Amino acid sequence: MAFLFESFEDWKKYSIERNLTLSEVVLEYEREQKNRTNVEIMEGLSKAWAVMKDAVRTGLEEDMTSRSGMINNGAKKVYNHKQTVLSKEFQNLIARALAAKEVNSCMGRVVAAPTAGASGIMPGVLFTLQEIHSIEDSRILEAMLVSAGIALIMEQRASISGAVGGCQAETGTAAAMASGAIIFCLDGNVDQIFNAVAITVQCMLGLVCDPVAGLVEIPCVVRNASAAAIANSSAQIALANVSSVIPVDEVIEAMGEIGASMETRYKETALGGLAATPTGQRIAKRVLVHDIEILPDEGSK
Ligand code: SF4
Repeated sequence: MAFLFESFEDWKKYSIERNLTLSEVVLEYEREQKNRTNVEIMEGLSKAWAVMKDAVRTGLEEDMTSRSGMINNGAKKVYNHKQTVLSKEFQNLIARALAAKEVNSCMGRVVAAPTAGASGIMPGVLFTLQEIHSIEDSRILEAMLVSAGIALIMEQRASISGAVGGCQAETGTAAAMASGAIIFCLDGNVDQIFNAVAITVQCMLGLVCDPVAGLVEIPCVVRNASAAAIANSSAQIALANVSSVIPVDEVIEAMGEIGASMETRYKETALGGLAATPTGQRIAKRVLVHDIEILPDEGSK
């Protein structure tokens, strides 16, 4: 019987008892729960990885202006800017996370990992990691299995949806998936992977979902970049065996508790936070008028 993804502790126990890696446990789950073969699962992951890489390239090469105008080729500007804050690698990481997410905001093709709102984090992190460490595609695909296991547990014990648990649930889960994947790719052990997840989520706790005009653009795009940075900083900490102190399962419980007590206006309703600022309200009104003006023309075609 396949392992059911209900806690990190059980995932580790199951993998030790059966002498399986974390990714092999997820593979077994996918086989048994979804009735798919190993080949089908790996082909699916391979396609997803290709779409992620395409989204990064598209966001850096094509025009990325959203219909609202709030997204306007930010990734390209960051990628090509001459002055770096830390290093060219860090600049590329931020630009790539922005790029893939801008593709989503401009209605392009992305992988919802775990959601479309957080679709820039995994591509930005994995693309940059692969480039720096020359990691084989096959290793990236195994890491994506580990990421999937992380998301399954977070969905069970908290949420992966901004409408249910705030942005901590969406970009927080994606960052946790990415951080665990980094450690896996760099041959870290299970405790380091789980520590990276715990530290990442500790850094994302409490983040509300407050998209301006109800569009997944502002602050979503920049939050993909900051979540990618947090995934990397947490992985760097966990790799050095610095403990999260609070075990990962308890951290995820805390995320669920915070999400459950969050007011509705902070859960994708566009009624609070940045969406409720005077500028956010003005943009919302403009977007609504724009849509009303466009609709009759579209209807007459
Ligand atoms: S603010 Fe809300 S819609 Fe935007 S990325 Fe976060 S959870 Fe998704």
